[in-house]
Amino acid sequence: MMTAFLPMENAFHRLRHWRLQQATRPFNARGANIARCPHCQMGQPFCICDQASQHESPVDWVLLMHSEEILKPTNTGRLLADVLPEHTWAFCWDRTAPPAELVQLLEDPHRLCALVFPGEQARLAPDLAAEAAHSQRRLTLLLLDGTWKQARRMCNRSPWLNQLACLALPPSQSHYGLRKAAHTGCLSTVEAAIGVLHSLQAPAAAALADYFAVFNQRYMASRGIRPDYTAAAD
Ligand SMILES: [Zn+2]
Repeated sequence: MMTAFLPMENAFHRLRHWRLQQATRPFNARGANIARCPHCQMGQPFCICDQASQHESPVDWVLLMHSEEILKPTNTGRLLADVLPEHTWAFCWDRTAPPAELVQLLEDPHRLCALVFPGEQARLAPDLAAEAAHSQRRLTLLLLDGTWKQARRMCNRSPWLNQLACLALPPSQSHYGLRKAAHTGCLSTVEAAIGVLHSLQAPAAAALADYFAVFNQRYMASRGIRPDYTAAAD
């Protein structure tokens, strides 16, 4: 499917709306005073709303987002919801009580759920995809969406995540200039998804990578950063 994208509400937009209602004080991220597109949160001259095309995905995606991450315009997990709206859920992480809809997904016998997170037992995407196909289940991948420190804390503090298989990505270099990687090989959320889709030879990998490239370029331009500068901290 390669339809031109008209902004519509997706799972991330609904979660962000909910999160804004929970907020008791204004969110003072860097650039909070910039006039932003209400849909993509980019500074208005740098709007990317007409740049996404919607695609099919061979796996389903669950963004498990740290509450602070939901409001950050530099968040990249949300790009999945733009390009793969029919295949992406978004939830706010809660240490003790996962959202009911997420529990339903995790307990669905028609799904093989796995957490995208490195670990000794972690498996590669083609291996898990083959197991899912063999057992006629839908591979459903959870992405922890926050800073690296938050993601690690989310993983360590949520016993209910420990029951999931882990999926690891082959090592690669991040191209996300707006956030500093915790160490070499750390990828942004959208880059992790692109890596999985690429390893499954899904056409959506290129579409998502193109969209991420536009997002990255325009965000850098909005901050007056040249494209070759890649060490900006968030
Ligand atoms: Zn926009």
